[in-house]
Amino acid sequence: MSSATPTSVVVGLDVGGTKTNATVLDVDGTFLVDEMVEVPSRVHDGPEGALAAIEAVMAASLARCGIEGRHVVAVGLDTPGPASPRGVISSKGATNFSEREWWGFDFRAAVEARLKVPVVYSNDGNAASLYAHVRHFGLRAGECSSISAIVGTGLGGGVIEHGAIIAGVSGNAGELGHVHIPMDGLLEPDQPTPRCNCGFTADLESVASLTGIRNNLLPYWLTRYPDHPIHRIASVDDAAKAVRGYGERGDEMARRIFEQQAMAIGRMFTIASRFTDPDVYFVGGGVTEAEPAFRDWFVDRVRVHTDLRDEQAEVCGFALVPDLDMAGARGAAMHALRTR
Ligand SMILES: [Zn+2]
Repeated sequence: MSSATPTSVVVGLDVGGTKTNATVLDVDGTFLVDEMVEVPSRVHDGPEGALAAIEAVMAASLARCGIEGRHVVAVGLDTPGPASPRGVISSKGATNFSEREWWGFDFRAAVEARLKVPVVYSNDGNAASLYAHVRHFGLRAGECSSISAIVGTGLGGGVIEHGAIIAGVSGNAGELGHVHIPMDGLLEPDQPTPRCNCGFTADLESVASLTGIRNNLLPYWLTRYPDHPIHRIASVDDAAKAVRGYGERGDEMARRIFEQQAMAIGRMFTIASRFTDPDVYFVGGGVTEAEPAFRDWFVDRVRVHTDLRDEQAEVCGFALVPDLDMAGARGAAMHALRTR
């Protein structure tokens, strides 16, 4: 950072199920923190615990770059959905906000009251998508559009149009995990139709997520590979997490699982290509942080399964979401800086 005292900064806060992390952005658009600054999110202690964690991590991030709290002009807050565009947690709760106290809780307003600065909310998939977009396009960000699919426990997504997040009237735009995907030729003839926690069958998250591997893909593929060493892992959660490591080592069953995920993402991008016809399709999540040869194979398979018209393929691109662990906080800060 420069030695001159900054006049004003924006703090980005990414609140997840286990950790809350923070970043600091000056009003010229330069990030003043290079590394992860994170604390346990305490979301399972309810709002009081989560707010205390937010205060602590914000103070730690400001201390890291020697900036006093009075220089903070806005805060960008992001959380996993579902939540309203103004940061009210769903009245049915959410995966990471399951305790009764969170249902219908106005998280954005509570953070604003606690920190006494304006707080701008974004969904975590949208925030990471905005960060990927701005990093990729730089000064052209405001002229370009992109779609992001981020594979994690669920599938996070985002639609960016002319450099702005499309959140929708209810906050559900960009919930790309819950787009129905044609399963013809994706599933094996005897493979059960995958089910999603949202109540849909055959949507993107039912295939392209860790939860999809755990609940749908792995149970089927293990019947096809009765001698696979994953059979010896007792916990279904641990077994699902082990698939990526096998994929990196070229294991045939794991590659078939990831091939189905890549095909599902490609088919979602094919649908997206007829809606917004974006400049770039971003792929993010654990698989893209994997060993480079495996990561490149995966992105290439997504590209192969994205069925574009020649005129589209000539002008669009495929890229990775960068700095994934910091992308949410950074995107939330950027969104706050642009919309405060
Ligand atoms: Zn779903």
